[in-house]
Amino acid sequence: MSRKNKFLRQCCFCRHYKNKNDLIRITKDYKTGELKLNNNQIIMGRSAYICKNEDCISNALKKRKIEISLKIKLTDSIKEKLYTVLKS
Ligand SMILES: [Zn+2]
Repeated sequence: MSRKNKFLRQCCFCRHYKNKNDLIRITKDYKTGELKLNNNQIIMGRSAYICKNEDCISNALKKRKIEISLKIKLTDSIKEKLYTVLKS
């Protein structure tokens, strides 16, 4: 299977390809620099994806995978929101 399904996105920690619905999307708004989680609106900006599991989230935070990928600094409130999405 060389062609990637267009609905598949790669987790920034474990590097597995998963369906968009199984991942949390973190988008950096290209105008405001604001971070949005799992927003269904079309936002112009760079996105990082992460599996909806605690392992990937906590390791990605620890290893700063999201920060490196989006070239941003994650605030505590965004980190909290990640765990809130996980529990929802
Ligand atoms: Zn993952």
